[in-house]
Formats: sequence, structure tokens, C-alpha cells
Amino acid sequence: MLYNQDIIDGLPVITKLDVNLLERGRIYRFMFKGADMNIGQSWYVPIMVAVGKHPGKKLLLNTGIHGDELNGIKVIQETFATLDIENMAGIVIGVLQASPNSLMHINRNWYLSTDGGDYANMNRLFPGKIDGNTAEVHAYKLWNNLWHGNVDMAIDLHAQSTDTIYPFFMYADLSIPEVRDLALKFPADQIYDDKDSLGTVEGTFDSYGIPAITLELGSPRIFEPEYIQRAIEGIYNVMLANQMIKEHHGRTAETFGTIIGNKLTSVKAEVGGYAEIFVRLGVKVKNGEKIAIQRNPFGDIIKSYEAPHDGIVASIGTGATREAGSLLVRILS
Ligand SMILES: [Zn+2]
Repeated sequence: MLYNQDIIDGLPVITKLDVNLLERGRIYRFMFKGADMNIGQSWYVPIMVAVGKHPGKKLLLNTGIHGDELNGIKVIQETFATLDIENMAGIVIGVLQASPNSLMHINRNWYLSTDGGDYANMNRLFPGKIDGNTAEVHAYKLWNNLWHGNVDMAIDLHAQSTDTIYPFFMYADLSIPEVRDLALKFPADQIYDDKDSLGTVEGTFDSYGIPAITLELGSPRIFEPEYIQRAIEGIYNVMLANQMIKEHHGRTAETFGTIIGNKLTSVKAEVGGYAEIFVRLGVKVKNGEKIAIQRNPFGDIIKSYEAPHDGIVASIGTGATREAGSLLVRILS
């Protein structure tokens, strides 16, 4: 643990977390010093660490990698508000605003001021680069100074991006037994068995042998109580299965009826124009079924889209204006 003697908003600033140095039976709050801005000040990440009275597993709850995905912060706040430290074994780390730059802009991306401005998707940059750009340096610090070494299992909380929505969706590499155990503890709507998570928080933990999953909780920019409650239910299921708590009765993937798929296809706009989507989240679609159209400013249909295969709708674009490359419908099968 490295305190740099600073206090921000009454909280000690740390440059490196070592949970082994913390006292049992306490909940700590820190400001973690991340990358530096162009103006010579730092980005700080608020974190909470709940250290149970008894030794046990170390669980990371991380959120705020993408700045327009907010349900996760409420999940972590409410989880910490209900933890019974006296009867808990192990440690829960809550990282509340992993990418403060992106959250400040309410944007999926980290804004870089270099050369007049550029954007970086934080969830492609892990484990980061000590000599990279600000986003890469911040990713490096999160990975090396906050997470790695302090964590036995990781849950990274996201939502869909602005102008798109998910149900309670999850990315998890179910071929890894420990990841499968983690994933199936959640009453999610849908799980995508992913193998293409390079550079993500989830994929990086998995590659280091630490099981991780990505929860995609609903819509961007808002709080959705139903998804928040279901995520907390799953987190307590995980804690129970790992002997961190003694009792909890939550729904799981099995009892909830979670749909699991290993193929995820995004139907994206091929032209710019006004989009109309004909399907809803969670409905079944058939190969060739008409799922969306786009119109020009005069109202003429300029493009129509069909489902590329059978499946269920995992995500839809809610923004009425869509340019080429924007998501219209994502199908899981
Ligand atoms: Zn995200």
C-alpha cells in the first residue's frame, strides 16, 4: 500500500493498493491516483475495500470503464451498503469510477487532448502501457497498481452504449470452468460465450488465470432498478458459493432461465438515415425476417435489413438517426 500523503475530499490518496495490509473488519475508502492530465493534475478513481472479519476470497467489482454506462455504480454502492463485514470472509473491492475522464464526458471513450483531440476505448487497452498515451497509462495503473495481485475473481460492470440498449446481458468465456461457475450465478437474461475479449478487463483477467465476467446491464446513462437488483442477487450468489457469506437465496441462471449462446451477430447500418427497428429485446427472430429499415430525410425507404440467422434479439439501436456502422440489431444464437 502506498499512501502519497495527499488527502482529497477527506480521503487518503493511494498510488498502489495492497489488500493484505488492511485491517480485518473494516470498510475503507480511498482515492486511487491514476494517469495525469495535460494540465499537470491527476485523474483519481474512488474505491471502496470491504475487508471481512475472516480470511477468504478476494472479489473485484469494477465499473466506469465506459463513461456512459451507469447501472454498475449503483450495483456497487448498494452491495457495499448491505455487506455484513462482521460475518464476512474475504475481501470485496469496489472500483466506482474506473475511467473518470470518460465519465466526466458521459462518453464511451477516454478523451485524449493530444493533437487537438482523440478518443480511446479503455476496454481494448488492458493491461495497458506505462509509456503509452494517457488512456494506456491509466489502464496500466489500474491493472498493475489496483487490481492485479489483489483479486481472485473479477466482475466488470457495463451497460450498452448511448443510443443502444441491452437486456441483462453477459460476456463470459464459458470454456473456462471457473468463469462458468461465476457466470451461472447470475439471473441474467442472456449470456454470450465469448472468445474474443482481447484487451478487455474480462479478457485480461482470464488470460492471467483469474476468472472474470462482463455484466452488460441494460441501457446507458440511467439507473434501472430491476437489472441493478438482479446483479446484486448474483454477486451475493458468488459470495455464497465462495464461502464469503453463509446464507443467501438468489435466483441463478438456471432458475431464472438464462439463454446462453455462442454466436453473436451485429446487423449494422450500411447507409446514413433514420432507422426504424421492428423487433424488441429478447424476442425470437427467424433467418430472413425483416428487422429494420432506414429512410432518407424525405421519408423514402433507402435500405431494409433482414435477420442473418435464427436467434434472439440481444441488443437494439434506439437512436433514430443512424450512420453507417451504427448498430441496428444484435442477434444471439
Ligand atoms: Zn462498456
